[in-house]
Amino acid sequence: MASLQISDLFVKVENQQILNGINLEVPQGEVHAIMGPNGTGKSTLAYTLMGHPKYEIESGQITLGGVDLIGMATEERSRLGLFLAFQYPVAIPGVTVANFLRTAMNAHRKAKNPDDKGVPIPEFRKLLTEKMDFLKMDHAMAGRYLNEGFSGGEKKRVEILQMAMLQPTMAILDETDSGLDIDALRIVSEGIESLKSNALGILVITHYQRMLNYLKPDVVHVMVDGKILMSGGPDLALKLEKEGYEWIKSTDAA
Ligand code: ADP
Ligand code: MG
Ligand code: MG
Repeated sequence: MASLQISDLFVKVENQQILNGINLEVPQGEVHAIMGPNGTGKSTLAYTLMGHPKYEIESGQITLGGVDLIGMATEERSRLGLFLAFQYPVAIPGVTVANFLRTAMNAHRKAKNPDDKGVPIPEFRKLLTEKMDFLKMDHAMAGRYLNEGFSGGEKKRVEILQMAMLQPTMAILDETDSGLDIDALRIVSEGIESLKSNALGILVITHYQRMLNYLKPDVVHVMVDGKILMSGGPDLALKLEKEGYEWIKSTDAA
């Protein structure tokens, strides 16, 4: 069972100390949530996990299934099974959703087998249709240019479709719920929920509890000032929603 393991992680951004000793383990088959106030380092952790060059690791370890991720290029991490859904998905002009997904899939296949000729189109179409139906998506979406003129909810749904197609072992979802109205939030959350399996670990990063109503986490972690101050069950998310984050700072755990 491959788990994502983070130990004593200290990270600097633009010479500013942001992560101050993160310890976290997300096993495959579990959903973990990180909640915390704005500016506390949640996205910094997500970008660090994906290997963004701006985030400078001072010390600590990050492994996926025992494989050291530090120093590994972003594509390599992705091929190893790590998936990051970005807080602000970008538009790629002139590339359709289907082409984008096929390119991503082929890159993964080629990494596993250098002689791979790419997924045959009929097989790709079949898989795409299957996953779109599974996520209750309009098939017309596949022919649209990626993120161009997409609503917030559509962008997030395409991210989840990408996740369904790539079948990662560990998915990091940073503020997937931001900017979604109630219906879009439910649809996207149910989409993620439907992908849950023993072969997938999910780390949901969110400011709000509402997404966790659908995507029931096994463990909720609270991050304040670049540290995990408390971990608990789903009840912890409800308590945070009601009482905010201030009380955490004054508990013995802090
Ligand atoms: P959160 O996601 O919890 O809201 P972030 O990780 O986005 O927090 O930000 C944590 C801190 O790091 C903030 O003070 C933010 O200004 C700073 N920071 C994050 N990314 C960058 C960056 N690329 N350049 C400069 N400062 C950054
Ligand atoms: Mg933020
Ligand atoms: Mg953030």
